[in-house]
Amino acid sequence: MRLVLICAAIAIITFAGTPAKADPPRVIASIAPLHSLVANVMAGVGEPDLILSGPVSPHDFALTPSDARRIAAADLVIWIGAPLESFLVKPLDGAGERQLALLTLPAVDAMPFDAGDDGGDTAGIDPHIWLDPVRAIAIVTAVEKRLSEIDPENANIYRANAAALSARLAALDEAIRARLQPNASRPFIAFHDAYGYFSRRYGLRPAGHFAVDPQRRPGARTIARLAGLVSAGTVACAFVEPQFDARIVTAIAADWPLRFGRLDPLGVDLEPGPALYETLLKANTEAIADCLGGSG
Ligand SMILES: [Zn+2]
Repeated sequence: MRLVLICAAIAIITFAGTPAKADPPRVIASIAPLHSLVANVMAGVGEPDLILSGPVSPHDFALTPSDARRIAAADLVIWIGAPLESFLVKPLDGAGERQLALLTLPAVDAMPFDAGDDGGDTAGIDPHIWLDPVRAIAIVTAVEKRLSEIDPENANIYRANAAALSARLAALDEAIRARLQPNASRPFIAFHDAYGYFSRRYGLRPAGHFAVDPQRRPGARTIARLAGLVSAGTVACAFVEPQFDARIVTAIAADWPLRFGRLDPLGVDLEPGPALYETLLKANTEAIADCLGGSG
């Protein structure tokens, strides 16, 4: 009897001491489109956390103490890079392999803002890489690789998820190209300078933007140049964005003969999660196709 009890006790201790599966890595992504890509790669293993949610812009965000705690507790922080999320530079200083700054990856092929439109008002690296689905494939590959390094036990799942998502993104790239092609050469005015990568990918022609710095009214020279494009009939379509104050645009362009569309670079209207990224790109594509193709 005693022997049976001892055996049972040993069996229980042995069983309790070998968990069926390790905890998934604690991963946090900066913005919702990135979070969505990461959520796809982690499907079946765990769910990533998200720093920025709701109608806020990474260009002027400040961390709360609870954000800072979530970042400090993460095994991996995935972000675009210093030109976009300046609020992460200090918290990630010295984080080494615990952070993945996508803008620094050669495969992502980061480029400077297109110079010229506004006389060089914008300078430096354009951080809006996620709006190009082909660059998103490079992001997915890098995320899969890093996750597999910190959690080799689940590497096969990450690899399969990344392959499936990359195939969908390649198909999405083709679909966007086909949808935009008929009116791709018609110039438009963006709200802020976020669509350089997307425009180069699909042959679009952003002729300027209302806000060089999303928080500030553009200068007189920019407004005069945009007004000239509109009055010459070069531009008939312009965009506002949900996370920024549309009064910047209405103060300038209330009387201009423009069709207005709405572009959402971050998905602030969408539920964060695996579906957000593809939903976001499809919605922006439809908004651009409607505005460029419209005649009213
Ligand atoms: Zn931006």
